[in-house]
Amino acid sequence: MMTDQTSPDLDLALGFTIPARHARGRIVRLGPVLERILSAHAYPAPIEALLADALTLTALIGSTLKDAGGQLTLQAQTDNGIVSLLVCDYRGGELRGYVQYDAGRLADAPVDPSLFALFGSGYLAITFDQATTGERYQGIVPLDGDSIADAAANYFVQSEQIPTLIRLGRAASGRVTGGLFLQHLPEGEEGRERLHVRQDHPEWEHVALLGQTMGADELTDAALPLETLVWRLFNEEPEVRTLTAQPIVRGCRCSPDYIAQVLGKFPVEEQREMADEAGVITVDCAFCAQKFPIMIEDRCES
Ligand SMILES: [Zn+2]
Repeated sequence: MMTDQTSPDLDLALGFTIPARHARGRIVRLGPVLERILSAHAYPAPIEALLADALTLTALIGSTLKDAGGQLTLQAQTDNGIVSLLVCDYRGGELRGYVQYDAGRLADAPVDPSLFALFGSGYLAITFDQATTGERYQGIVPLDGDSIADAAANYFVQSEQIPTLIRLGRAASGRVTGGLFLQHLPEGEEGRERLHVRQDHPEWEHVALLGQTMGADELTDAALPLETLVWRLFNEEPEVRTLTAQPIVRGCRCSPDYIAQVLGKFPVEEQREMADEAGVITVDCAFCAQKFPIMIEDRCES
């Protein structure tokens, strides 16, 4: 009896390079991971769509980190928008994220609000934390453009002078997303300064033009292997090297043990002030929308 051994290409990041065009890329598709993150929050549709895009973007950029323990954090923030804060991060294939927003103002907004309608004059911060060296690098750009993907592409162009193309797609159901990330690295990672002196990049422009043809339907079609998408897009290139696909999981650092350990660093008096009459401190994890009641009684009685 024949059995179908193929599983859909979901919750994966596939890296690739096009050596002759000095280009590198990532292609990501999220399914069950996205479902788990979104269903924990029960956000209204526009907020879900925003978080779905931001998570896909975070997986795209995060999966380019060479340092396996390194972390990529994407944070969008504003003082005057419907959304006050959006945070997503990616570390070693673990993805998580949440949004803080004003439900009252969202109810008065258009059905499909623009990025500007959601954030007003906000900004996007992208932070790279290196695990091996402990170094942190952060770049901040205004939340301009039609989408959070545009703002992120601006970050790479403005802060790092790296020509970058980002395409994001969401399936009609909203619970499958895909993304394509392309970058031009003409002199390798060591020689970024040399980009300033070169005004034209014909080899990159061709790659970017092809990248722009990638549609949401292809990005989110789980029956289409990611590798097939890459080959199809760049089938005229003499060489496209694909890397091993990396699995993406929903991950969070919150656990009763971890939270108890963090609380344990506060002086006993402060722990008592935080606790209720029963000696329980309730800690929320914004990423998971979960509450953790931690009993402090035992530790305080010394
Ligand atoms: Zn958590």
